[in-house]
Amino acid sequence: MIHRLSIPTPFMVGRVNCYLIDDDPLTLVDCGPNSGKALDELERALGGHGRRIEDLERIVITHQHLDHLGLVGILADRSGAEVCALDLLVPVMAEFAAHAERDDELAERLMLRHGIPHDVVTALRAVSRSFRGWGGSAPVDHPLPDGSTLDFAGRTLEVRHRPGHSPSDTLFWDPGRALLIGGDHLIKHISSNPLISRPLGGRSGEPGSRPRMLMMYLESLRDTRELPVETVLSGHGEPITDHVALIDERLAQHERRAAKIAGLIRDRPKSAYELAQALWGNVAVTQAFLTLSEVLGHTDLLIDRGEVREQEVGGVIRFEAT
Ligand SMILES: [Zn+2]
Repeated sequence: MIHRLSIPTPFMVGRVNCYLIDDDPLTLVDCGPNSGKALDELERALGGHGRRIEDLERIVITHQHLDHLGLVGILADRSGAEVCALDLLVPVMAEFAAHAERDDELAERLMLRHGIPHDVVTALRAVSRSFRGWGGSAPVDHPLPDGSTLDFAGRTLEVRHRPGHSPSDTLFWDPGRALLIGGDHLIKHISSNPLISRPLGGRSGEPGSRPRMLMMYLESLRDTRELPVETVLSGHGEPITDHVALIDERLAQHERRAAKIAGLIRDRPKSAYELAQALWGNVAVTQAFLTLSEVLGHTDLLIDRGEVREQEVGGVIRFEAT
C-alpha cells in the first residue's frame, strides 16, 4: 500500500507529495522542505496512518530540489532510516548549500551572458540565498546506480535516471503494478520547468559542460512514454492515469513554443532576455532565471536543428536565424 502525504511548501508550486510505502522496510519517498510547518504536517500525516517518524526505516529521494529533500537530515537522524538516492546525487546531498551556491554561480554567469541587467541578477541571487535554508543535507547510505533495483519484501522498484526537470531526476518503476513513482518528471496540472542546473554526470551530461536541459528532458519524456505505465505518482498534484496523452501534450507545447521563438528571432536577432520579455513581459524580470531557462531550452533545440545560431556582441549572446 502506498499513501500520498501532501506537505506544505513556501513555494509557488504549493504542496509537495511525499509517499509512504507501507512495506518492509517502511519507506518514505521524499521529505518536504526544511520547515517546522512541513515537519508538523508530515508527523500528523504519518500519524493518520498509524506511523511515527521514528518508525521510518528507509528514505528515498527523487531529485535535488529543496521541497523534496529539505527535511532529509532531520528525518534520518530521528528515525535512523537508511537514505537512498541516485548515486549521482550523493555529493549534492552531502553538502546541499555548497552545491546550491555553485548552481547560483552558473545561473549568474548565464544571466549576464544572455542580457539580463546586473541589478536584476543581484536581486535574484539574494532571493535564491534566502531560499536555501529550506534545503538540507544528509549522507546517502545506499547510492542507487541508474538501472539498479530497490527491493522490498512485497515489491521491487527499478531505478531510472531520467534527467531534465533537474539533473538528478530519478524514476522508481514497479513493473508488476505498472506504477511509476515519478518525482517532478511529469506533473498533471503544470509543465515541469527544466531549470538550468550543473550536470552531475551520466545522462545529465559531463560535469562542467553546458547543460541542455530541455533536450535532455524531451529525451527522458520519450523514454517514459514507452513504459507501459498505468499510474504515475507525481511530486505535486494528483496521480496521472494517461501518461501518453499528457506527454504528447507536453511535447506539442514545447514544439509550439520553439516555433514562436523561431519566429521572433526571424523578425530580428535577439538576446534570450529580449525573447523572454517578448513572450512574458514583466515576468521575464521577476522570474528572470526561470524564463531564461525556458528560452535557452528552446534555442538549444533550434540550434540543434540548424535553424538558429548564436552571435556574441559585447559579451552578450544574440540569436539569429541561419
Ligand atoms: Zn522539482
